[in-house]
Amino acid sequence: MQLTSGGSGAPRATGRCLCGAVRYEVRGPLRDVLVCHCVECRRAHGSVGAYSAAALDDLAILDETALRWVDSPESDHGARRGFCVECGSSLFWQARDLPRIGIAAGTLDRPTGLRVAAHIYAHQAGDWDELPPDGLPRDPDRDELEIRWS
Ligand SMILES: [Zn+2]
Ligand SMILES: [Zn+2]
Repeated sequence: MQLTSGGSGAPRATGRCLCGAVRYEVRGPLRDVLVCHCVECRRAHGSVGAYSAAALDDLAILDETALRWVDSPESDHGARRGFCVECGSSLFWQARDLPRIGIAAGTLDRPTGLRVAAHIYAHQAGDWDELPPDGLPRDPDRDELEIRWS
């Protein structure tokens, strides 16, 4: 994760929180979106979490003054969630043992060119959460799921 601007060329994508206090650029490929129905996303987002991802080194936080982190206590990865302390937007999910960082897809500026690849943690979905009949994999084996980075 970079904390300064710089680098060359246009970023792959840009994004920000609701109030704009946290802004970021992605300077490499983005993963297609996983819609996460886990209990932590449910609480952190108030609904499902929809996450793209980028290599940690490709994410540049342009202003992190308002960025705070909270532990994601039930995660298998010792993860933490990044949010804006000014407006409460959920922006990032970062596992301590992974070289990539999850980016809340809704915080990306359009167009992203991304599509939903699968639903994960469907077994933890809220009882009001009827998964759409979209034919996408649900709770796939993550090692076998072929997912596009673009
Ligand atoms: Zn904000
Ligand atoms: Zn989740």
